[in-house]
Amino acid sequence: MKDYDLKNPYTGDTIATYNLDDSKSIHSKLKKALEIQTSWANMEIEDRCQLLTNVAELLIERKEEYAKLMTQEMGKPISQGVAEIEKCAWVCDFYALNAEDLLADELIDTDADESFISHDPLGCILAVMPWNYPFWQVLRFAAPTLTAGNTALLKHAKNVTGCSLAIEQLFLDAGYPEGCFQSIKSGHEEIEKLIAHEGIKAVTLTGSEKAGRSIARTAGENLKKSVLELGGNNACIIWEDADLDQYISTMATARMQNTGQSCIAAKRFIVCADIYDNFIEKFTAEIKSFKVGDPMDKDTFIGVMAREDLAEELQKQVQDSIDMGAEVILGNERNGAYFSPTILTNVTKEMPVFKEETFGPVAAITKVANREEAIQLATNSRFGLGSMLFTQDIDSAMDMISQIPDGAFFINDMVKSDPRLPFGGTKASGYGRELSREGILEFVNKKTVYIK
Ligand code: NDP
Repeated sequence: MKDYDLKNPYTGDTIATYNLDDSKSIHSKLKKALEIQTSWANMEIEDRCQLLTNVAELLIERKEEYAKLMTQEMGKPISQGVAEIEKCAWVCDFYALNAEDLLADELIDTDADESFISHDPLGCILAVMPWNYPFWQVLRFAAPTLTAGNTALLKHAKNVTGCSLAIEQLFLDAGYPEGCFQSIKSGHEEIEKLIAHEGIKAVTLTGSEKAGRSIARTAGENLKKSVLELGGNNACIIWEDADLDQYISTMATARMQNTGQSCIAAKRFIVCADIYDNFIEKFTAEIKSFKVGDPMDKDTFIGVMAREDLAEELQKQVQDSIDMGAEVILGNERNGAYFSPTILTNVTKEMPVFKEETFGPVAAITKVANREEAIQLATNSRFGLGSMLFTQDIDSAMDMISQIPDGAFFINDMVKSDPRLPFGGTKASGYGRELSREGILEFVNKKTVYIK
C-alpha cells in the first residue's frame, strides 16, 4: 500500500514513514473486534472499570513520552501536551468510578409489575478522530464507549499516526483483551466501506464540517447512528461591566490555547463600546506576554500550527478580511506552519474571520453599542458549539440562557470540556453529546423491559 511520511511541523524533519492498511487487514481487524464483542460485553462491569483505572495509571506514568509524541507530530507545546494526558487520566478515572451507576437499569413506574430501561452495548463502534488533541479526543470517546461494553476501531488523522498506534498499545498494556480497541490506518474510501459494513453499529467523528457531512451521509444511507462533533465559532461576549483585571488572562487563553486549534476556542470577541479601549489595551498586552517558540520548550505557550496547509488557509481568511476592512493591530506573519498571534479589529459579520471557523491564533474583535447588540451578533452564526459571556451582572447574564442557541453557555469562564458535563453542539457544530451520563449513553441500546 501507499507510504506516507509524517513531518514535524516545527523542524520540517521527517519523523516516520507509514503505510495504509489494505482492505484485507482492515477487515481482519473488524473480524477480531466482532469475535471479542460478546465476551467483552459479558465481562463484569467492575472488571471493565478496573481496566480503565489501569489506563489512567499508565497515562500518568507515560505523560512525558506521550506529550513528546504529540509535539513531534502536530507541534503542540509540550506543557499543554502533558496537561492533555493528565486530562485523559481524569476522564478514565471519572468513568471507572461512575460507569456502573450510569449504566444501571433505570426503573420506571408503570402498570407492569416491573419496568425499566436496560443499557446494552451496541457492538463495534467506528471513531474518526482529528489531530488537534490527539489523545484527548480519542480517550473521551473510548473511556465511556468501551466501558459500556462496546469494542472500537479508531481511524485517526493521518498526521498523528504515531499517537494512534500508541493509544492502541496503551489499551493492550492496560490489560484490555486483544481486539477491544484497534487502530486502523486508512483512507477515506475505506471508512465509507466500513460504515456500510454490518459489523459496524455506529460512527463518531470529531473534525471539520465537510468530513461531518460526508460521514453523516454514509451513516444515514446505511441507517447507522452517528455522533458529530464538528467545528465551532464561539463568541466571547464582553459586557461593559466585565472584570477585565480578573478575567483577561482567561479570555486570551480561550483564544490562544493549543495555538488556537481548538473547536471550543473563543474566536469572535464581541465587546461593548464602554469597555472597548480598556479591553484592547489589556488583551493585546496579555497576548504579547505569551511565549512563542519551540514547542519542545516547556515555557512555550504558542508553537506552530499542525500543518503548513492549515496555516496557509488561515492566512487567506485573514487577508480576505483585511481586504474587506479589518485592521491588524498585532501579528499576521506566517513562516511555514508558524502563524504569529494575531489580533484583528473592525471586524464585521460579513468577513471570513467572523463567518467562518478560524483554526489558529487569530482573535477577531467587533465593537458593539450595547449588551443587546452583543447578544444579537454573538448568536448570528451557523455554528453552535458554545458561547461565553463576561460580566459582573450574573442575574442579567442568566436571563440570556434561553437566547443562546448553542450546546454550552459559560459565564465568566471559557468554554471547556469536563468529564462531568455533557459536551457537543447544535447547528453546523454537529449533534450528539460526549462525556458525562449523556456520553456513555450515546452508544447503548436503551432497551425497554416490561414484566407483568
Ligand atoms: P478533517 O475533518 O478533514 O479531519 C478530521 C478527521 O476526519 C481525520 O481523521 C480525517 O482523516 C478524517 N476525514 C476527513 N474527511 C473524511 C471523510 N470524507 N471520510 C472519512 N474520514 C474523513 O480536518 P482537517 O485536518 O482537514 O482540518 C480542517 C479544518 O477542520 C480545521 O481547520 C478546523 O476548522 C476543522 N477541524 C475541527 C476539529 C474539531 O475539533 N472539531 C478538529 C480538526 C479540524 P485524514 O487525516 O486521513 O484526512
